[in-house]
Amino acid sequence: TTWNQYRDVLEQLGLEKNNNKGVFDGEWKAAGDIIPSYNPVNNEVIAEVIQGTVGELDVAFDRVAEAQKIWQELPVPQRGQVLLAMRDALVKNIQPLGKLVSLEMGKILPEGIGEVQEYVDILEYALGLSRMLNGAMIPSERPGHVMLETWNPLGTVGVISAFNFPVAVYGWNSAIALVAGNGVLWKPSPTTPLVAIAVTKILEKTLREHNLPPALCSLVTGGTDVGQSMTKDKRAHAISFTGSTKVGRAVGTVVQERFGKSILELGGNNAIIVTDDCDLDLAARAILFAAVGTAGQRCTTTRRLIVHESVYDTLMERLVKAYDQVKVGDPLEEGILCGPLHTKEAVNIYEQTLASVKNQGGQVLYGGKVLKEGKLANGNFVAPTLTRVTPDMDVVKNEAFVPILHTMTYKTLDEAIAINNGVAQGLSSSIFTTNPSTIFKWIGSSGADSGIINVNIPTNGAEIGGAFGGEKETGGGRESGSDSWKQYCRRGTCTINYSGALPLAQGINFG
Ligand code: NAD
Repeated sequence: TTWNQYRDVLEQLGLEKNNNKGVFDGEWKAAGDIIPSYNPVNNEVIAEVIQGTVGELDVAFDRVAEAQKIWQELPVPQRGQVLLAMRDALVKNIQPLGKLVSLEMGKILPEGIGEVQEYVDILEYALGLSRMLNGAMIPSERPGHVMLETWNPLGTVGVISAFNFPVAVYGWNSAIALVAGNGVLWKPSPTTPLVAIAVTKILEKTLREHNLPPALCSLVTGGTDVGQSMTKDKRAHAISFTGSTKVGRAVGTVVQERFGKSILELGGNNAIIVTDDCDLDLAARAILFAAVGTAGQRCTTTRRLIVHESVYDTLMERLVKAYDQVKVGDPLEEGILCGPLHTKEAVNIYEQTLASVKNQGGQVLYGGKVLKEGKLANGNFVAPTLTRVTPDMDVVKNEAFVPILHTMTYKTLDEAIAINNGVAQGLSSSIFTTNPSTIFKWIGSSGADSGIINVNIPTNGAEIGGAFGGEKETGGGRESGSDSWKQYCRRGTCTINYSGALPLAQGINFG
């Protein structure tokens, strides 16, 4: 039975069937509600978690701060060595942890394991950074003066994360926050608490082995109440929030009110433009992964397909064939490409979105069904879907977090770019073309207005080396690579006078 499958994974990660405590602040505890964690394949309970409370969050803030005081005194390369040990511990646990991601979130096993791999990768990146958190020397206009920049930790970084990347989002944030000398306090999605507890246990063990206070990586599971309390609390020097635009707007406002820093990674409404000069086979393969992968539950999922009118029919024919090959089912079964939606509520959103397509004059070209046959009967399964719409329809303007790809046509490149940019969100955009002038226009000032701008690859699959994030209602945050680490630091501009005189800037003579 499935219980054996759950038991093995839980045991390997130090989890239990019933008494999983959802708070870690140096010790495991939890005084909140008992909540079940469901397997979206069959809506069985995998295990139960006792959630944290607002009171426990309050205590955890102090514990993280105490731990951070010790951590920030460690030379940065030594912090790097601890991150390297965390990396090794994750590598050891990559199979059970990847499997737990599949069980609890619902993504296929290679993607579940891929998420842990992403955490491994970013820890390696952070190890490299531990030798490279350099500040600048700036020429001073005054004789006998030197100007320089220092990058010191902020203190505590609060991470509030979404259900769809239950490991990787925390991974990006914790690795970079830690190397910069911060402590981390995590509030995961209330529907993926088991993964959060498992990850925290792995980090706890590594910190203990290094005689460091394990509260450095603290966890408080819970719902909106815990999230809101964390957002309001001045002890969260930065809040890194990943989730919907609706919640992110509220979080950003509250953090701004207290002049905290926020990093907002919100909803996307990503498009691929298919030109008439591209390799259509390449495009079709990319679109399939981009729109159907993770059952449409990536922030970078392609939701809009903007196709040159001359190649529309040919491309759609290929896509329908490709969609026909996609096996929907248990994400742990080999050969399955599309798992279930994470919740029953998402199945309703799928149905409502299809109803809107029809009401607004669009058509369903392929799919469009909730799947209930055989083994799928008790799960949250839907058929990956292709629609035919026009860009002005309301349904195309919103992010529905399900595998529905809206297709539309264009005549000129300017029109295609205008359609791409004509939504409130600005996460990821791709174009398929072999024309160099199209490429340079696309990445230039009158091109795509999103944070991630791709050519001949899908909208998703960002590598950790670049800065990840989006513009407009996607929130403007950047995480992971490039100079994202600076957001987890307090920048000091220092001027040192070694001249013995006191010349003022701008040549001001004061008395
Ligand atoms: P969500 O907004 O419902 O929840 C995100 C988190 O916020 C959860 O931990 C939740 O408990 C918490 N929360 C809810 N109300 C809160 C409040 N008032 N104050 C503070 N915290 C609160 O999002 P979700 O359904 O878990 O995730 C899907 C969404 O996340 C999609 O919109 C997707 O595009 C987005 N996402 C964006 C990125 C990105 O990098 N841009 C990555 C992954 C997911």
